[in-house]
Amino acid sequence: MGIPSHTLKYRSDNKMYTILTPQSTLVRPVAHDYYEIDNYPLGTNAVVAVISYTGYDMEDAMILNKASVERGFKHGSIYKTEIIDLREIGGIRGGSQEVVYTFGRKEDNQQLDGFVDFDGLPFIGTKVEYEDPICSYFDLTTGETHVKKYKSMEVAFIYDVKLLGNDSGKSVLQSVAITYWIHRPPIIGDKFANRHGQKGVCSVLWPQENMPFTEGGMTPDIIFNPHGFPSRMTIGQMIESMAGKTASMYGTVHDATPFVFSEENVASDYFGKLLENVGFNYYGTERMYSGVDGRQLEADIFIGVIYYIRLRHMVGDKYQVRSTGPIDNLTHQPVKGRKRCGGIRFGEMERDSLLAHGTSFLLQDRLFNNSDKTMAYICQKCCSLISPYCSAINDSYDSEPKKSWKCRLCESSEHIRQIAIPYVLQYLVAELAAVNIKVKFEVKS
Ligand SMILES: [Zn+2]
Repeated sequence: MGIPSHTLKYRSDNKMYTILTPQSTLVRPVAHDYYEIDNYPLGTNAVVAVISYTGYDMEDAMILNKASVERGFKHGSIYKTEIIDLREIGGIRGGSQEVVYTFGRKEDNQQLDGFVDFDGLPFIGTKVEYEDPICSYFDLTTGETHVKKYKSMEVAFIYDVKLLGNDSGKSVLQSVAITYWIHRPPIIGDKFANRHGQKGVCSVLWPQENMPFTEGGMTPDIIFNPHGFPSRMTIGQMIESMAGKTASMYGTVHDATPFVFSEENVASDYFGKLLENVGFNYYGTERMYSGVDGRQLEADIFIGVIYYIRLRHMVGDKYQVRSTGPIDNLTHQPVKGRKRCGGIRFGEMERDSLLAHGTSFLLQDRLFNNSDKTMAYICQKCCSLISPYCSAINDSYDSEPKKSWKCRLCESSEHIRQIAIPYVLQYLVAELAAVNIKVKFEVKS
């Protein structure tokens, strides 16, 4: 996320990710200025402490300072544009001059008050939530009013409404572009990275009062786990940390052009000496104190300033939960896909791992109860499944199986029993019947 454009007001991109508090970098190569990247900044300078603090920073997770976030650190927003085309809704194709709908509203429609103006278009700046009206239009033949609703679960604000016409400017208004502004403050699960490819996910917003602090009383914005260094060897990040720290003290920026330092003239020595000049430790470390009990930490902590970037992968767009919900028509198993409120595949390997853990009830819950559990009838005499009676919702056993169910083979309903089966079993039996194979079930009651 960054500053992708300075003309957002005049654009109607499908989706645009921006940040709210951009800053210039303290350490940069010459090309940065040559291309005037400062006009399109990507991130913010963060005070980063390299310390394994609570365990919340394990495995590429990172701790964000809650107070920093509340001050605006890493806040972002999304500009989303939706085009509403009445010709498309009316099913008109090509260059036909036909008009079926026209934007507008009835005065007495109180449902629209505060959302949609008399021209049928939304007020700019309106806060919209799920199912709130965003525009309304008349059917010219029936006089009926239709209301278009906001279909996202996320709160948004109407940022702009553009009337779309043709070049002559004389066409009838048939389509509008509505741009939404959506605020995305950092939350647990959002992704961040610095310019060395060290990416991580926010695992907790730690209260500032419990963050470790330096002699000067400074708390870091980000806590970075030291285990991120050895295998990745991002030496540049350590140098940036030291350089960024001196840059913020001197009020200058440092050149990050590669190969300007050498074995004789080492970068860490150069910045180490600069640090010493402003009263810091040569190695970029500082004495720190536990934010929880105030005791001095035994090790000196490497702390400095690193440019951090917010990435567009956010939990808000990715999380998925389901107990029961939409099912597939054929198999009666959960559909897939986040958009459709579907399930996540629980395959054979997943099944095996639950088996290995001995959690059979959870297994039954996932693979049966919350999947395609069906109450079916069976004839105990001829051992066959009775024609498909199914209901995913009714999962209770009838104390007395319905007498109306009758085995056509035995011409009786005496031996009918109700059983719970996965719906696909019924499907399988039906498919096998199609190739002349009978399946028998021995049910003991
Ligand atoms: Zn029978």
